Amino acid sequence: MSKKSDQLSKLLGKVTLQWPIPEPIEGLSLLEQGLAAVLQRQFSREQSIKVIEGLRKGYADWNELRVSQPQEVAKHFHLGNKGLAAARLTCAYLQEVYQYSHGLSLDFLKDDPSAVQRFVFRLDLIGSALVHSLMRQAVPNELPVTPGLVRVLDRLGLIVRTSSIKKARSAIEPLASGMDPLYFSTRLGEVASRWCDARKPACHECVLVDDCKHGKKVFKEWKLQQERMAQQRAKDAARLAALQKKEDEKRHREAARAAKRAAAEAAQKARDAERKAKLEAKKAAALKAKLDEKKRIAEERAKAKALAEQKKKEALLAAQKAKRLAAEKAKQKAKEAAKEAAKEAAKQKAKAAAKKSKPPAKKSKPKKSGRK
Ligand code: SF4
Repeated sequence: MSKKSDQLSKLLGKVTLQWPIPEPIEGLSLLEQGLAAVLQRQFSREQSIKVIEGLRKGYADWNELRVSQPQEVAKHFHLGNKGLAAARLTCAYLQEVYQYSHGLSLDFLKDDPSAVQRFVFRLDLIGSALVHSLMRQAVPNELPVTPGLVRVLDRLGLIVRTSSIKKARSAIEPLASGMDPLYFSTRLGEVASRWCDARKPACHECVLVDDCKHGKKVFKEWKLQQERMAQQRAKDAARLAALQKKEDEKRHREAARAAKRAAAEAAQKARDAERKAKLEAKKAAALKAKLDEKKRIAEERAKAKALAEQKKKEALLAAQKAKRLAAEKAKQKAKEAAKEAAKEAAKQKAKAAAKKSKPPAKKSKPKKSGRK
């Protein structure tokens, strides 16, 4: 075993498969072997066989199955609650095969290296480890070599990258000597799919980073990037905190201004209300005074009227009294005049009678006056 081969053997010892590669099942096509391996990530070997048998009976071809609804697919095998999960996994597997191979057969793994290269470019569900195992089943005597495997070995510094699979194989085969080809290809496939992405390798998660020249460099850059991002996050956080502080202060100022404005408005309202109340009171007082004045005038008029009526009544009574007194006086006077007249008449009568009865009297001498 060469030094590089020994080094590689130690590196592969660090790799654990996320999904162990199951033993092939007899009587299945390569496509079905792949499906069985994917199903065995969640189900037992027996359940996986049961699913494949159910699907074989239920569907005329795989494409019909690929475009079916998982709920419909699940009816063809009896796995209870797990049936839908198995159906979804089956449809996803067939879709990935179809998407990257434009067909539903993996027979190109046997004799079409360029189709293999296109197929293994990106297989999120199936993964390179399983593809390498299927390639090993397709061509048992050949070491599976794919661009992903070449990329990992190149980044590890064990070969020089080449686009020619033939040249790559001749560089890789000496490295794999003394190792189980399946073990070799599935572990490297695991690294290629899980961490060693062609464009953006996740070296910080990769188990080989401490021994990988390229990985160390990427990891260092990643760390620097993380530090820069952390610094940026800290800056952003500080900026946000400053902004938040400013915003809080602004809000606080605005709240204080609003409170002041509200207080001023309330005070103004109170003043207005007070002024209005005073005005209303003044109006009410003026109205009351007016009403009182009216009432007073009305009372005075009533009093004056009553007084006038009283005076009129008294004048009437006085006039009536005067009239009555005048009438009584006139009556008395008339009575007295009548009495006087009667007396005079009686006197005249008596005089006349006396005159008749007496001789006529001598003429009396005129009296001498004492004054001269
Ligand atoms: S450390 Fe990085 S470059 Fe090296 S094998 Fe792992 S993922 Fe690939």
